[in-house]
Amino acid sequence: MAKITVYVPAVDDYRSKVLEKAIEMAKYNLNVDFDIYPIDLSTDMILMRSFDAQELAKGLYDGGYNRDEVSIFFVRKDVKTADTNFCFGATMGKTILLSDYRINHGCYSEAEKIAMLTYLIEHEIGHAFKAADDLHYGDGIYDMHCLNEKCCMQQVQSLDELRDFAKRNMTCRGKYERGCFCSHCKKRFRRFYATE
Ligand SMILES: [Zn+2]
Ligand SMILES: [Zn+2]
Repeated sequence: MAKITVYVPAVDDYRSKVLEKAIEMAKYNLNVDFDIYPIDLSTDMILMRSFDAQELAKGLYDGGYNRDEVSIFFVRKDVKTADTNFCFGATMGKTILLSDYRINHGCYSEAEKIAMLTYLIEHEIGHAFKAADDLHYGDGIYDMHCLNEKCCMQQVQSLDELRDFAKRNMTCRGKYERGCFCSHCKKRFRRFYATE
């Protein structure tokens, strides 16, 4: 059975409470267990300097935190790619970097923030365990994503799309709901999760 670790900023504040709730919700929806560790990345010079998500993910990967296991690192800074001034995060091997900066700083209700973060966690863990494939739809554009509008492996490309998806599909009424994956992606996720 695969192991999943989520590293959260070692700060006890309102943003941490929101993230904590999202992690709990993702755990429940995915029906898997996570190890959760607070981590202080502010002493790491490379991570302090860069805003490039790929570079940050590589820095964490090279840093040697559980690189053979699926690890999610949440950072509290805005991140970008070489081509765009914003992205949600980046992946290097099994090391996943996610930023909660824009979600925290956007005009969203607490329930929306939790739902948006939950989607990001579920989506990236879905990728890590090959939940979506490209054979299912196979037009090349949706490689490793799902076209099912209710499935968390559907791709979102902006904060607006993320909020809309989260509002549509994740609960915003304080009640947990199962069914983050469509049945196709769920089957694949369970298979790869069980055999890794
Ligand atoms: Zn994706
Ligand atoms: Zn799906």
